[in-house]
Amino acid sequence: MKQWENNVRAVTPYVPGEQPKQQGLIKLNTNENPYPPSPSVQQALGQMDAHSFRLYPDPEASQLTGAIADRYGVSERQVFVGVGSDDVLSLAFLTFFNGKKPILFPEITYSFYRVWATVYQIPFRCVPLDEQLHIRASDYVSAAGTVGGIVFPNPNAPTGAALSLADVEEIVRANRDVVVIVDEAYIDFGAKSALPLVETYDNLLVVQTFSKSRSMAGVRIGYAIGDERLIAYLKSVKESVNSYTMNMPSIVLGVAALEDERYFQETCAEIIRTRELVGQKLASMGFRFPQSQANFLFVTHPDYNAKELFLALRENNIYVRYFDQPGLRDYLRITIGTPEQMGQLIAFLEEYAARDGGGQRV
Ligand SMILES: *Cc1c(COP(=O)(O)O)cnc(C)c1O
Repeated sequence: MKQWENNVRAVTPYVPGEQPKQQGLIKLNTNENPYPPSPSVQQALGQMDAHSFRLYPDPEASQLTGAIADRYGVSERQVFVGVGSDDVLSLAFLTFFNGKKPILFPEITYSFYRVWATVYQIPFRCVPLDEQLHIRASDYVSAAGTVGGIVFPNPNAPTGAALSLADVEEIVRANRDVVVIVDEAYIDFGAKSALPLVETYDNLLVVQTFSKSRSMAGVRIGYAIGDERLIAYLKSVKESVNSYTMNMPSIVLGVAALEDERYFQETCAEIIRTRELVGQKLASMGFRFPQSQANFLFVTHPDYNAKELFLALRENNIYVRYFDQPGLRDYLRITIGTPEQMGQLIAFLEEYAARDGGGQRV
């Protein structure tokens, strides 16, 4: 240990899913959308003029916040944009979770929450899920008064299970003394958004992203919608860290994506349709999973060792996500791809089940 290491902010970082370089593999490990972004995005990209890059971008990204405000029927002053929702969530932790009481989030959830809480030195407490791997709203309601803030994804990740809008509202209403962040990264795949509640509850911040439902993970656009006061605080912190987070191309491409509502609706509907068909098929093969309202299924099988199945799939160029962590070791998270990709997954699983009379037994 070097002496200077005493002064280092040493952290254990979040580990994202693999991004393998080979072509032609079936990539179902990071919840990306299998469909390309809307043709309107490709068109806007073609019209981009590199000359404009000479100048700094608009620090407010107002073209994009304006387009998001129009799409969701809120005022522009209720919208904040960032470099993916990870950037937005990280800034929201820094801004709103500055109290002494612990913040609350589910024990099984997006693992970045723990990382941000640690790096920003925010005290936190994790709340277990129920036996069916669902968030129990009553745990967050009864904790009112003892917490410094609340954050959870809806639907939850990596389980895919969603809370009802009534449950989300109960949590927000019971905890009006703190900010409640609802991370709606997967909301467009079937669950009910808490956005209508932001008019009533000034302590609610809803965070969404272009990465999943709008097929633009590589462009990095996320946003938060909430009361004007919340958004003003968020902007002050962002402008104290980095004025120019949103680059010119992502502002322009984000606006273009929002222009094509029909394409967005159609691709989301296609993923939901595929999820339901794949779910039925997997259930018939003995897999179990919470009902998913996201673009992935969180599956377990009584006869298979999840890690061995994960490795066997990988060997066959089918990448899914395995979390080598307590409580998650018996599960695989499988992103919903195209019907063709899912057909290949099912074909492999059928072959796996037939091996030595039933795959790798536990
Ligand atoms: C994917 C994901 C995010 C982050 O997405 P960005 O690409 O940074 O917008 C945030 N929360 C959850 C739960 C996610 O699954």
